[in-house]
Amino acid sequence: MARELGHELLSVEDARAEILSHLGPLPAETRPLADAYNRVLREDLVAEALIPPFDNSAMDGYAVRSADLAEAAPGRPAALRLLASIAAGSKDVLSIAPGTTARIMTGAPMPAGADAVVPHELTRAEGGRVFFDAPAKAGGNIRRAGCDMRPGDAPLRSGERLRGPQLAVAAALGRPSLLVTMAPRVAILSPGDELVEPGERLGPGQIVSSNQYALIGLLKELGAEPMPLGIVPDDRRAIRAALRRAAEAGAGAAITTGGVSAGDFDHVQAIAREEGAPGRVFKVAMRPGKPQAFALLDGIPLFGLPGNPASAVISFLVFVRPALKRMLCEAKALADRFPVRFRRAFRYKPGRTLFLRCRVEPDASAEGRGFSVAEVGEQDSSVLSSLARANAVVVLPADRDVAEAGETFLAEWIHG
Ligand code: AMP
Ligand code: MG
Repeated sequence: MARELGHELLSVEDARAEILSHLGPLPAETRPLADAYNRVLREDLVAEALIPPFDNSAMDGYAVRSADLAEAAPGRPAALRLLASIAAGSKDVLSIAPGTTARIMTGAPMPAGADAVVPHELTRAEGGRVFFDAPAKAGGNIRRAGCDMRPGDAPLRSGERLRGPQLAVAAALGRPSLLVTMAPRVAILSPGDELVEPGERLGPGQIVSSNQYALIGLLKELGAEPMPLGIVPDDRRAIRAALRRAAEAGAGAAITTGGVSAGDFDHVQAIAREEGAPGRVFKVAMRPGKPQAFALLDGIPLFGLPGNPASAVISFLVFVRPALKRMLCEAKALADRFPVRFRRAFRYKPGRTLFLRCRVEPDASAEGRGFSVAEVGEQDSSVLSSLARANAVVVLPADRDVAEAGETFLAEWIHG
């Protein structure tokens, strides 16, 4: 365990594990497919029929018996009598006898007798006959019934996040609606006597409250419904009352930024510690974002994040994102990490894990694969501009003080 000024610092992993251990699954609800985007599926989807349900053409062309074309060659074409044209959706039951063919469109049902489709552009039609100057492979350009899914296949499992293609699979399985985790409403509170809303005039000592906008975006990306409750004075009773109102208004979780360190007006940490059950205040061995509070309060989790803009966002990524994913029952609560190479040496203060916000770009180096750090920018936790330039967070270990040029460390996408 790392130590700092005599305080025990909790590791990021221990703090996160403790938070996750207090979180249960949110209820599930049935949503129409069109409203299920970015929700987490809460049932296994199993195919009950063949998809596609029938053999059909993969091309616009001609349905043939391949045996009829066995001897076809340039200058010595096979000529087949044209019977009909089969459209997608055709209900006609057509049969291809030896010496005949039918024009067929992509997705149209294969006629009986035919065992191949020859693409239109390889043929010539003239006077009720169609000419082919090459053999056709039996089975060629036919999509077989069940080639996509067969009864018993489970193309989607509970815990998967539903994007467009997953919703399309559900539709193909004939499902107009799905069981998904309800979208939690997440209250966002900004305690701070120095804060004003954007657009308001700044008085002496005041700054614009910006954190809520970063959190609104990050919450939406997770499929949660942000409930921004605005600025609250640095007053314990006011903060407590706002949190209670959020829970009463149906919030499934609450986030505060600021008021969580050891300042005289840092009431969130006192509320978490004294009124939460459990209520925990952590000093975490991370930079930025050392002070963190977590509590179950009024029946919902409260994430007390630090107030500096970069600290708030990094803390969200490290603690709140996995926590919400856990509550949403997403199969993987932790973000995927990927290797990122440093193009030049980067020195940092040891002792706490550094979450380095930076811009990573495809690596054009000799190795030529993966990503490398293209731009680091100012790392002070109060600086917003470098946060907005960053697309990833590289995790640099607490027991080091330099990432050497050419060295590789793991990173997470900020949005993803
Ligand atoms: P605190 O933890 O309350 O001392 O806040 C740490 C720093 O973050 C201070 O400089 C605050 O002014 C700043 N801060 C707190 N809340 C916000 C907010 N909503 N938007 C932008 N900065 C904030
Ligand atoms: Mg404050």
